[in-house]
Amino acid sequence: MHTERSEALFARARQVMPGGVSSPVRAFKAVGGHPLFITRGEGAYVFDADGNRFIDYVGSWGPLIFGHAHSEVVAAVIEATRNGTSYGAPTEAEILLAELVIEAVPSIEMVRFVNSGTEATMSALRVARAFTRRSKIVKFSGGYHGHADMLLVAAGSGALTLGVPDSPGVPAEATAHTLVAPYNDIAAVRELFARYPDDIAAVIVEPVAGNMGCVPPVEGFLSGLRAVTQEHGALLILDEVMTGFRVAHGGAQALYGIKPDLTCLGKIVGGGLPAAAYGGRRDIMAMVAPSGPVYQAGTLSGNPLAMAAGAAQLRLLRTPGVYEQLDALAGKLCDGIGKAASENGVAVYQTRVGSMFTTFFTSGPVVDEASAKQSDTSAFATFFRAMLDQGIYLAPSQFEAGFLSLAHSEVDIERTIAAAHVAFQKVMARQE
Ligand SMILES: *Cc1c(COP(=O)(O)O)cnc(C)c1O
Repeated sequence: MHTERSEALFARARQVMPGGVSSPVRAFKAVGGHPLFITRGEGAYVFDADGNRFIDYVGSWGPLIFGHAHSEVVAAVIEATRNGTSYGAPTEAEILLAELVIEAVPSIEMVRFVNSGTEATMSALRVARAFTRRSKIVKFSGGYHGHADMLLVAAGSGALTLGVPDSPGVPAEATAHTLVAPYNDIAAVRELFARYPDDIAAVIVEPVAGNMGCVPPVEGFLSGLRAVTQEHGALLILDEVMTGFRVAHGGAQALYGIKPDLTCLGKIVGGGLPAAAYGGRRDIMAMVAPSGPVYQAGTLSGNPLAMAAGAAQLRLLRTPGVYEQLDALAGKLCDGIGKAASENGVAVYQTRVGSMFTTFFTSGPVVDEASAKQSDTSAFATFFRAMLDQGIYLAPSQFEAGFLSLAHSEVDIERTIAAAHVAFQKVMARQE
Protein backbone atom coordinates (compact mmCIF):
# COMPACT_ATOMS: atom_id res chain seq x y z
CA MET A 1 0.00 0.00 0.00
CA HIS A 2 1.42 3.37 -1.05
CA THR A 3 1.13 6.10 1.56
CA GLU A 4 3.77 8.60 0.43
CA ARG A 5 1.30 11.41 -0.11
CA SER A 6 -0.31 10.97 3.31
CA GLU A 7 3.16 10.92 4.87
CA ALA A 8 4.12 14.15 3.09
CA LEU A 9 0.85 15.81 4.12
CA PHE A 10 1.36 14.70 7.72
CA ALA A 11 4.86 16.25 7.74
CA ARG A 12 3.40 19.53 6.46
CA ALA A 13 0.47 19.38 8.89
CA ARG A 14 2.76 18.93 11.87
CA GLN A 15 4.50 22.20 11.03
CA VAL A 16 1.31 24.20 11.38
CA MET A 17 -1.01 22.24 13.73
CA PRO A 18 -0.18 20.53 17.05
CA GLY A 19 0.47 16.89 16.21
CA GLY A 20 -0.70 17.59 12.67
CA VAL A 21 -4.37 17.08 13.54
CA SER A 22 -7.47 18.91 14.74
CA SER A 23 -8.40 16.21 17.31
CA PRO A 24 -5.89 13.89 19.04
CA VAL A 25 -7.00 10.30 18.25
CA ARG A 26 -6.77 11.03 14.53
CA ALA A 27 -2.96 11.07 14.77
CA PHE A 28 -2.72 7.23 15.11
CA LYS A 29 -0.53 7.59 18.20
CA ALA A 30 -2.08 4.57 19.90
CA VAL A 31 -1.31 2.28 16.97
CA GLY A 32 1.92 3.73 15.60
CA GLY A 33 2.65 4.93 12.11
CA HIS A 34 1.10 8.00 10.53
CA PRO A 35 -2.51 8.91 9.82
CA LEU A 36 -4.03 8.69 6.36
CA PHE A 37 -5.21 11.94 4.83
CA ILE A 38 -8.70 11.47 3.45
CA THR A 39 -9.75 13.06 0.19
CA ARG A 40 -13.21 11.61 -0.33
CA GLY A 41 -15.94 9.44 1.15
CA GLU A 42 -18.58 7.49 -0.71
CA GLY A 43 -21.07 5.19 0.97
CA ALA A 44 -19.15 2.70 3.12
CA TYR A 45 -15.77 3.77 1.73
CA VAL A 46 -13.15 6.43 2.28
CA PHE A 47 -10.33 7.23 -0.16
CA ASP A 48 -6.96 8.60 0.92
CA ALA A 49 -4.51 10.99 -0.72
CA ASP A 50 -2.62 8.10 -2.33
CA GLY A 51 -5.79 6.76 -3.94
CA ASN A 52 -6.27 3.80 -1.57
CA ARG A 53 -9.84 2.75 -0.84
CA PHE A 54 -10.94 1.53 2.60
CA ILE A 55 -14.10 0.04 4.05
CA ASP A 56 -14.77 2.59 6.78
CA TYR A 57 -15.87 1.59 10.29
CA VAL A 58 -15.17 5.00 11.81
CA GLY A 59 -17.93 6.89 10.03
CA SER A 60 -16.55 10.23 11.24
CA TRP A 61 -16.70 8.73 14.77
CA GLY A 62 -20.42 8.07 14.65
CA PRO A 63 -22.40 10.68 12.72
CA LEU A 64 -22.56 8.94 9.33
CA ILE A 65 -25.24 6.30 9.90
CA PHE A 66 -26.06 6.38 6.17
CA GLY A 67 -22.42 6.33 5.13
CA HIS A 68 -20.55 9.06 3.29
CA ALA A 69 -22.13 11.58 0.96
CA HIS A 70 -25.66 10.15 1.01
CA SER A 71 -27.45 11.81 -1.90
CA GLU A 72 -30.33 13.19 0.22
CA VAL A 73 -28.02 14.65 2.85
CA VAL A 74 -25.77 16.22 0.21
CA ALA A 75 -28.79 17.63 -1.64
CA ALA A 76 -30.19 19.13 1.57
CA VAL A 77 -26.89 20.85 2.37
CA ILE A 78 -26.45 22.20 -1.17
CA GLU A 79 -30.01 23.49 -1.17
CA ALA A 80 -29.48 25.24 2.18
CA THR A 81 -26.12 26.67 1.08
CA ARG A 82 -27.68 28.38 -1.94
CA ASN A 83 -29.60 30.58 0.49
CA GLY A 84 -26.53 31.56 2.49
CA THR A 85 -24.54 29.78 5.16
CA SER A 86 -25.55 31.58 8.37
CA TYR A 87 -27.73 34.45 9.51
CA GLY A 88 -27.52 34.64 13.27
CA ALA A 89 -31.31 34.83 13.27
CA PRO A 90 -34.05 32.23 13.78
CA THR A 91 -34.93 29.88 10.90
CA GLU A 92 -37.62 27.30 10.25
CA ALA A 93 -34.84 24.72 9.75
CA GLU A 94 -34.27 24.75 13.54
CA ILE A 95 -37.94 24.10 14.24
CA LEU A 96 -38.00 21.24 11.76
CA LEU A 97 -34.99 19.53 13.36
CA ALA A 98 -36.30 20.21 16.89
CA GLU A 99 -39.63 18.60 15.94
CA LEU A 100 -37.83 15.56 14.50
CA VAL A 101 -35.76 15.20 17.69
CA ILE A 102 -38.81 15.49 19.95
CA GLU A 103 -40.79 13.05 17.81
CA ALA A 104 -38.00 10.46 18.11
CA VAL A 105 -37.10 11.01 21.78
CA PRO A 106 -40.23 11.50 23.92
CA SER A 107 -38.35 12.52 27.09
CA ILE A 108 -37.21 15.63 25.21
CA GLU A 109 -39.94 18.28 25.41
CA MET A 110 -37.71 21.19 24.44
CA VAL A 111 -34.31 21.31 22.84
CA ARG A 112 -31.44 23.80 22.44
CA PHE A 113 -29.03 23.42 19.53
CA VAL A 114 -25.28 23.89 20.02
CA ASN A 115 -22.23 23.12 17.89
CA SER A 116 -20.57 20.14 19.57
CA GLY A 117 -21.16 17.37 22.07
CA THR A 118 -18.76 19.14 24.41
CA GLU A 119 -21.02 22.17 24.44
CA ALA A 120 -24.11 20.02 24.92
CA THR A 121 -22.84 18.28 28.07
CA MET A 122 -21.34 21.38 29.70
CA SER A 123 -24.53 23.31 29.07
CA ALA A 124 -26.79 20.51 30.32
CA LEU A 125 -24.76 20.38 33.53
CA ARG A 126 -25.01 24.15 33.97
CA VAL A 127 -28.78 23.91 33.66
CA ALA A 128 -28.90 20.93 36.05
CA ARG A 129 -26.89 22.83 38.65
CA ALA A 130 -29.09 25.90 38.30
CA PHE A 131 -32.30 23.85 38.49
CA THR A 132 -31.27 21.87 41.58
CA ARG A 133 -29.22 24.70 43.15
CA ARG A 134 -26.54 22.11 43.85
CA SER A 135 -22.90 21.90 42.74
CA LYS A 136 -21.70 18.32 42.64
CA ILE A 137 -21.92 16.06 39.62
CA VAL A 138 -21.28 12.35 39.23
CA LYS A 139 -19.58 10.88 36.18
CA PHE A 140 -18.11 7.45 35.47
CA SER A 141 -14.54 6.42 34.92
CA GLY A 142 -13.91 5.84 31.24
CA GLY A 143 -16.99 7.93 30.42
CA TYR A 144 -16.26 10.70 27.94
CA HIS A 145 -18.44 13.76 27.69
CA GLY A 146 -16.26 16.10 25.68
CA HIS A 147 -13.41 18.22 26.96
CA ALA A 148 -15.00 20.75 29.35
CA ASP A 149 -12.72 21.29 32.39
CA MET A 150 -15.13 19.86 34.96
CA LEU A 151 -15.48 16.62 32.96
CA LEU A 152 -11.78 16.00 32.27
CA VAL A 153 -11.34 13.81 35.28
CA ALA A 154 -9.18 10.72 35.36
CA ALA A 155 -10.81 7.90 37.17
CA GLY A 156 -8.88 4.64 37.36
CA SER A 157 -7.69 4.09 40.86
CA GLY A 158 -9.23 7.41 41.89
CA ALA A 159 -12.72 5.94 41.68
CA LEU A 160 -14.99 6.95 44.52
CA THR A 161 -12.65 9.78 45.47
CA LEU A 162 -12.82 13.43 44.49
CA GLY A 163 -11.83 13.94 40.89
CA VAL A 164 -8.28 14.82 39.91
CA PRO A 165 -7.86 16.75 36.64
CA ASP A 166 -6.85 14.61 33.68
CA SER A 167 -4.98 17.34 31.81
CA PRO A 168 -2.55 20.09 32.71
CA GLY A 169 -4.31 23.42 32.43
CA VAL A 170 -7.36 22.25 34.36
CA PRO A 171 -7.25 23.81 37.85
CA ALA A 172 -8.12 21.46 40.69
CA GLU A 173 -10.93 23.87 41.58
CA ALA A 174 -12.58 23.15 38.23
CA THR A 175 -13.03 19.49 39.07
CA ALA A 176 -13.55 19.90 42.81
CA HIS A 177 -17.26 19.15 42.44
CA THR A 178 -16.83 16.20 40.08
CA LEU A 179 -17.36 12.80 41.69
CA VAL A 180 -16.31 9.64 39.89
CA ALA A 181 -17.64 6.08 40.13
CA PRO A 182 -16.83 2.94 38.14
CA TYR A 183 -19.16 2.31 35.19
CA ASN A 184 -21.85 -0.30 35.84
CA ASP A 185 -21.33 -0.02 39.62
CA ILE A 186 -24.63 1.14 41.11
CA ALA A 187 -23.42 0.42 44.66
CA ALA A 188 -20.60 2.95 44.20
CA VAL A 189 -23.11 5.56 43.07
CA ARG A 190 -25.32 4.86 46.09
CA GLU A 191 -22.27 5.35 48.29
CA LEU A 192 -21.62 8.76 46.73
CA PHE A 193 -25.23 9.77 47.39
CA ALA A 194 -24.93 8.53 50.96
CA ARG A 195 -21.88 10.73 51.40
CA TYR A 196 -23.35 13.81 49.68
CA PRO A 197 -27.13 13.32 50.00
CA ASP A 198 -28.11 16.94 49.29
CA ASP A 199 -25.21 18.16 47.15
CA ILE A 200 -25.40 16.20 43.90
CA ALA A 201 -27.03 18.11 41.05
CA ALA A 202 -26.84 15.40 38.43
CA VAL A 203 -25.47 12.08 37.31
CA ILE A 204 -24.19 12.17 33.73
CA VAL A 205 -23.72 8.85 31.98
CA GLU A 206 -23.25 7.32 28.56
CA PRO A 207 -26.16 4.82 28.55
CA VAL A 208 -23.98 2.55 26.44
CA ALA A 209 -20.38 3.55 27.06
CA GLY A 210 -18.64 4.17 23.77
CA ASN A 211 -15.45 5.96 24.64
CA MET A 212 -13.58 3.14 26.40
CA GLY A 213 -14.58 0.87 23.57
CA CYS A 214 -18.22 -0.19 23.51
CA VAL A 215 -19.31 -1.26 27.02
CA PRO A 216 -23.03 -2.03 27.42
CA PRO A 217 -24.82 -1.28 30.69
CA VAL A 218 -25.38 -4.29 32.93
CA GLU A 219 -28.92 -5.18 33.96
CA GLY A 220 -30.15 -2.78 36.62
CA PHE A 221 -27.45 -0.13 36.17
CA LEU A 222 -29.45 2.49 34.27
CA SER A 223 -32.68 1.81 36.18
CA GLY A 224 -30.65 2.03 39.39
CA LEU A 225 -29.34 5.45 38.35
CA ARG A 226 -32.87 6.56 37.57
CA ALA A 227 -34.05 5.42 41.02
CA VAL A 228 -31.19 6.84 43.08
CA THR A 229 -31.29 10.25 41.37
CA GLN A 230 -35.04 10.46 41.91
CA GLU A 231 -34.71 9.51 45.58
CA HIS A 232 -32.24 12.35 46.14
CA GLY A 233 -33.74 15.08 43.97
CA ALA A 234 -30.85 14.93 41.52
CA LEU A 235 -31.20 14.93 37.73
CA LEU A 236 -30.27 12.07 35.42
CA ILE A 237 -28.51 13.25 32.27
CA LEU A 238 -28.10 10.67 29.53
CA ASP A 239 -25.21 11.61 27.28
CA GLU A 240 -26.54 10.15 24.05
CA VAL A 241 -24.13 12.07 21.82
CA MET A 242 -22.98 8.70 20.47
CA THR A 243 -25.99 6.45 21.13
CA GLY A 244 -28.72 8.89 20.06
CA PHE A 245 -30.33 7.70 16.79
CA ARG A 246 -27.57 5.03 16.71
CA VAL A 247 -28.73 2.13 18.89
CA ALA A 248 -32.42 2.86 18.24
CA HIS A 249 -34.42 5.69 16.70
CA GLY A 250 -35.19 6.88 20.23
CA GLY A 251 -31.64 6.26 21.42
CA ALA A 252 -30.49 4.07 24.29
CA GLN A 253 -33.30 5.45 26.47
CA ALA A 254 -35.81 3.80 24.14
CA LEU A 255 -33.81 0.57 24.00
CA TYR A 256 -33.53 0.25 27.80
CA GLY A 257 -36.74 1.99 28.80
CA ILE A 258 -35.17 4.78 30.87
CA LYS A 259 -36.65 8.27 31.07
CA PRO A 260 -33.90 10.81 31.82
CA ASP A 261 -34.45 14.43 32.88
CA LEU A 262 -32.02 15.75 30.27
CA THR A 263 -30.45 14.24 27.16
CA CYS A 264 -27.37 15.30 25.21
CA LEU A 265 -27.26 14.65 21.48
CA GLY A 266 -24.58 15.15 18.84
CA LYS A 267 -22.95 13.18 16.04
CA ILE A 268 -25.94 11.74 14.05
CA VAL A 269 -28.20 14.71 14.90
CA GLY A 270 -25.88 16.95 12.84
CA GLY A 271 -25.70 14.68 9.79
CA GLY A 272 -21.92 15.03 9.61
CA LEU A 273 -21.95 18.80 10.09
CA PRO A 274 -21.11 20.50 13.40
CA ALA A 275 -24.35 20.38 15.37
CA ALA A 276 -25.35 18.97 18.73
CA ALA A 277 -28.18 19.53 21.17
CA TYR A 278 -29.37 19.20 24.72
CA GLY A 279 -32.95 18.92 25.81
CA GLY A 280 -35.42 17.36 28.17
CA ARG A 281 -38.15 18.28 30.62
CA ARG A 282 -39.92 21.52 29.79
CA ASP A 283 -39.67 22.86 33.36
CA ILE A 284 -35.90 22.37 33.32
CA MET A 285 -35.28 23.67 29.78
CA ALA A 286 -37.38 26.74 30.59
CA MET A 287 -34.41 27.85 32.72
CA VAL A 288 -32.27 28.38 29.61
CA ALA A 289 -31.86 31.98 28.40
CA PRO A 290 -33.70 33.89 27.08
CA SER A 291 -36.68 32.05 28.58
CA GLY A 292 -34.84 31.73 31.90
CA PRO A 293 -31.70 32.96 33.68
CA VAL A 294 -29.15 30.26 32.69
CA TYR A 295 -26.86 31.78 30.08
CA GLN A 296 -25.85 29.75 27.05
CA ALA A 297 -25.34 31.05 23.52
CA GLY A 298 -23.58 30.45 20.19
CA THR A 299 -22.86 32.52 17.07
CA LEU A 300 -23.31 29.55 14.74
CA SER A 301 -25.74 27.52 16.88
CA GLY A 302 -28.63 26.14 14.83
CA ASN A 303 -26.61 26.72 11.66
CA PRO A 304 -28.91 26.24 8.65
CA LEU A 305 -26.53 23.87 6.82
CA ALA A 306 -26.14 21.66 9.88
CA MET A 307 -29.89 21.73 10.59
CA ALA A 308 -30.58 20.65 6.99
CA ALA A 309 -28.06 17.80 7.12
CA GLY A 310 -29.35 16.59 10.49
CA ALA A 311 -32.99 16.76 9.41
CA ALA A 312 -32.22 14.83 6.21
CA GLN A 313 -30.66 12.00 8.23
CA LEU A 314 -33.39 11.95 10.87
CA ARG A 315 -36.07 11.81 8.17
CA LEU A 316 -34.30 8.92 6.46
CA LEU A 317 -34.06 7.15 9.82
CA ARG A 318 -37.86 6.97 10.02
CA THR A 319 -37.74 4.33 7.25
CA PRO A 320 -39.12 1.11 8.76
CA GLY A 321 -36.53 -1.61 9.20
CA VAL A 322 -33.36 0.48 9.21
CA TYR A 323 -32.37 -0.46 12.78
CA GLU A 324 -33.17 -4.12 12.15
CA GLN A 325 -30.93 -4.00 9.07
CA LEU A 326 -28.10 -2.39 11.02
CA ASP A 327 -28.46 -4.90 13.85
CA ALA A 328 -28.48 -7.90 11.51
CA LEU A 329 -25.46 -6.76 9.51
CA ALA A 330 -23.46 -5.74 12.59
CA GLY A 331 -24.33 -9.10 14.17
CA LYS A 332 -22.98 -10.89 11.13
CA LEU A 333 -19.81 -8.81 11.20
CA CYS A 334 -19.14 -9.37 14.89
CA ASP A 335 -19.94 -13.10 14.72
CA GLY A 336 -17.51 -13.43 11.82
CA ILE A 337 -14.76 -11.55 13.62
CA GLY A 338 -15.33 -13.59 16.78
CA LYS A 339 -15.13 -16.82 14.82
CA ALA A 340 -11.96 -15.64 13.06
CA ALA A 341 -10.39 -14.84 16.44
CA SER A 342 -11.19 -18.21 17.98
CA GLU A 343 -10.14 -20.15 14.86
CA ASN A 344 -6.79 -18.43 15.06
CA GLY A 345 -6.41 -18.84 18.81
CA VAL A 346 -6.67 -15.16 19.75
CA ALA A 347 -8.54 -14.40 22.98
CA VAL A 348 -11.01 -11.56 22.43
CA TYR A 349 -14.08 -10.23 24.20
CA GLN A 350 -16.66 -8.74 21.89
CA THR A 351 -19.28 -6.19 22.77
CA ARG A 352 -22.05 -4.86 20.58
CA VAL A 353 -25.24 -2.84 20.90
CA GLY A 354 -26.89 -2.50 17.51
CA SER A 355 -24.38 -1.02 15.11
CA MET A 356 -21.75 0.02 17.68
CA PHE A 357 -19.22 -2.60 18.72
CA THR A 358 -15.71 -3.36 19.96
CA THR A 359 -13.39 -6.34 19.80
CA PHE A 360 -11.36 -6.16 23.01
CA PHE A 361 -8.06 -8.06 23.01
CA THR A 362 -8.72 -9.65 26.39
CA SER A 363 -10.69 -12.69 27.48
CA GLY A 364 -12.95 -10.33 29.44
CA PRO A 365 -15.56 -9.76 30.62
CA VAL A 366 -15.32 -6.02 29.98
CA VAL A 367 -17.80 -4.08 32.13
CA ASP A 368 -15.91 -0.92 33.07
CA GLU A 369 -12.72 1.03 32.50
CA ALA A 370 -10.54 -1.23 34.65
CA SER A 371 -11.59 -4.37 32.77
CA ALA A 372 -11.32 -2.60 29.39
CA LYS A 373 -7.76 -1.68 30.30
CA GLN A 374 -6.88 -5.36 30.63
CA SER A 375 -6.77 -5.39 26.84
CA ASP A 376 -3.51 -6.10 25.04
CA THR A 377 -3.16 -2.80 23.17
CA SER A 378 -0.08 -3.93 21.31
CA ALA A 379 -2.01 -6.93 19.93
CA PHE A 380 -4.72 -4.47 18.92
CA ALA A 381 -2.14 -2.28 17.17
CA THR A 382 -0.89 -5.28 15.17
CA PHE A 383 -4.47 -6.19 14.27
CA PHE A 384 -5.27 -2.59 13.32
CA ARG A 385 -2.27 -2.27 11.00
CA ALA A 386 -2.96 -5.62 9.35
CA MET A 387 -6.57 -4.60 8.72
CA LEU A 388 -5.52 -1.23 7.33
CA ASP A 389 -3.06 -2.92 4.98
CA GLN A 390 -5.99 -4.94 3.65
CA GLY A 391 -8.19 -1.91 3.09
CA ILE A 392 -10.19 -1.95 6.33
CA TYR A 393 -10.29 1.35 8.22
CA LEU A 394 -10.93 0.81 11.94
CA ALA A 395 -10.75 3.40 14.70
CA PRO A 396 -7.03 3.73 15.54
CA SER A 397 -7.43 2.82 19.22
CA GLN A 398 -8.57 -0.19 21.24
CA PHE A 399 -10.74 2.15 23.29
CA GLU A 400 -13.01 3.46 20.54
CA ALA A 401 -16.22 1.91 19.29
CA GLY A 402 -16.63 0.76 15.71
CA PHE A 403 -19.65 1.86 13.69
CA LEU A 404 -21.53 0.17 10.89
CA SER A 405 -23.59 2.25 8.46
CA LEU A 406 -26.56 1.50 6.25
CA ALA A 407 -24.20 1.84 3.27
CA HIS A 408 -22.23 -1.28 4.26
CA SER A 409 -23.10 -4.36 2.18
CA GLU A 410 -22.91 -8.10 2.83
CA VAL A 411 -19.89 -8.14 0.53
CA ASP A 412 -18.16 -5.48 2.64
CA ILE A 413 -18.81 -7.58 5.74
CA GLU A 414 -17.44 -10.74 4.11
CA ARG A 415 -14.31 -8.92 2.95
CA THR A 416 -13.82 -7.55 6.45
CA ILE A 417 -14.14 -10.98 8.06
CA ALA A 418 -11.67 -12.46 5.55
CA ALA A 419 -9.24 -9.65 6.39
CA ALA A 420 -9.72 -10.31 10.11
CA HIS A 421 -8.57 -13.92 9.64
CA VAL A 422 -5.29 -12.68 8.19
CA ALA A 423 -4.95 -9.98 10.85
CA PHE A 424 -5.50 -12.44 13.73
CA GLN A 425 -2.83 -14.70 12.20
CA LYS A 426 -0.45 -11.73 12.33
CA VAL A 427 -1.36 -11.19 15.99
CA MET A 428 -0.52 -14.82 16.76
CA ALA A 429 2.72 -14.73 14.73
CA ARG A 430 3.80 -11.71 16.72
CA GLN A 431 3.13 -13.48 20.05
CA GLU A 432 5.18 -16.56 19.08
C1 LIG B 1 -18.26 12.42 20.92
C2 LIG B 1 -18.83 12.51 22.26
C3 LIG B 1 -18.87 13.72 22.98
C4 LIG B 1 -18.20 14.97 22.51
O1 LIG B 1 -18.74 15.47 21.33
P1 LIG B 1 -17.86 16.50 20.48
O2 LIG B 1 -18.79 16.89 19.38
O3 LIG B 1 -16.65 15.75 20.03
O4 LIG B 1 -17.51 17.63 21.37
C5 LIG B 1 -19.55 13.75 24.19
N1 LIG B 1 -20.13 12.65 24.69
C6 LIG B 1 -20.09 11.46 24.05
C7 LIG B 1 -20.78 10.29 24.64
C8 LIG B 1 -19.43 11.35 22.83
O5 LIG B 1 -19.37 10.16 22.22
